[in-house]
Amino acid sequence: MITPVLPTYNRAQVSFVRGEGARVFTDDGTAFLDFGAGVAVTSCGHAHPHLVKALTEQAQKIWHTSNIYQMPGQEKLARRLIESTFAETVFFCNSGAEALECSIKMARRHHFVNGAPERNQIITFEGAFHGRTLATISAGGQEKYLEGFAPRMPGFVQLPFGDMQALAAAITPETAGILIEPVQGEGGIRPLPHAGLKALRDLCDKHGLLLILDEVQTGVGRTGKLFAHEWAGITPDIMAVAKGIGGGFPLGACLATENAAKGMTAGTHGSTFGGNPLATAVGNAVLDVVLADGFLDNVRDTALYLKQKLAGLKDAHPEVIEDIRGEGLMLGIKCKVPNTSLQAAAVAEKLLTIGAGDNVVRLLPPLVITRADVDEALQKLDRACKALTPRAA
Ligand SMILES: *Cc1c(COP(=O)(O)O)cnc(C)c1O
Repeated sequence: MITPVLPTYNRAQVSFVRGEGARVFTDDGTAFLDFGAGVAVTSCGHAHPHLVKALTEQAQKIWHTSNIYQMPGQEKLARRLIESTFAETVFFCNSGAEALECSIKMARRHHFVNGAPERNQIITFEGAFHGRTLATISAGGQEKYLEGFAPRMPGFVQLPFGDMQALAAAITPETAGILIEPVQGEGGIRPLPHAGLKALRDLCDKHGLLLILDEVQTGVGRTGKLFAHEWAGITPDIMAVAKGIGGGFPLGACLATENAAKGMTAGTHGSTFGGNPLATAVGNAVLDVVLADGFLDNVRDTALYLKQKLAGLKDAHPEVIEDIRGEGLMLGIKCKVPNTSLQAAAVAEKLLTIGAGDNVVRLLPPLVITRADVDEALQKLDRACKALTPRAA
């Protein structure tokens, strides 16, 4: 018999009733150290007092009005995002996939109003993940997400990750833009080298293409900069943001330059819930935390400490760990055992992690973790690795 909730998830046999900072608790009070943050979402940790205050204060005023009225909270959040990024305009939605949908529509529409409607093909990369809507599973191109959902939406051309030669050859008079994650998340924490991102920017400039970055997972401080592309010293034309920006409240955003967004006039796009007063109150509170003096310095510092410790873990457990990779607090443990085994062993130690492609275990802790949290996580990982290592007789 089918379950009450559509059975599309492989759920772990555990549920949490409360969270505080980097820890979540089951109803019997058992604490788990949360190095998954609900897949890079609870950027400020669980029940951050400033976020709780922003949400509850807004909840007592007004929850929802509709985008048919002026939205002061949205405007404030948009202005702050613009002040801290390349962007000149922002569209608000509720999820990563929707932020990508807006990005894709915007890119097509840009060329349409430029008198080149045939420029509607977007180049994406193998291993990508852009969401689960019909357009974004086509953009991501992963067979496991496409199977049974034919017909595949046209308009996407997929190339090997980071293959610059294939890329130059794939650009045609129909190409609208290039869509890429600066660090592939679901694909297994695969960072595009900074030089690669620069080369993409150059190619886009040369051919009049729009560079669309999917920073749904890498954004909002995750890699130690507000957005990951800052490490490469380039800016995109369009950027999809979600996950960390809401700190646990569903909020997504599509950021763009005025030029990229030139086709998005009144009536061309919309959302009922997108950027409602509750969501933007929380989004503004997240920015208060992440943009505070020294916050990102601290993320970089803690991230470096975590990465060094993980390098030590790898040396101590060469039978379990093949490699450590990633940027900031978006790190991957490439496993020699099945990644699900390491994850299960970590859960037995009360440590939560997230799986990924390429046999990787993802560490995506809240950005507020301390060195003491890192030390505790590493002790748990060390015990998890030991439990997986066949003892010499
Ligand atoms: C999670 C994710 C998405 C999809 O976000 P949803 O909120 O699940 O729709 C898109 N792109 C990347 C890189 C992601 O990590």
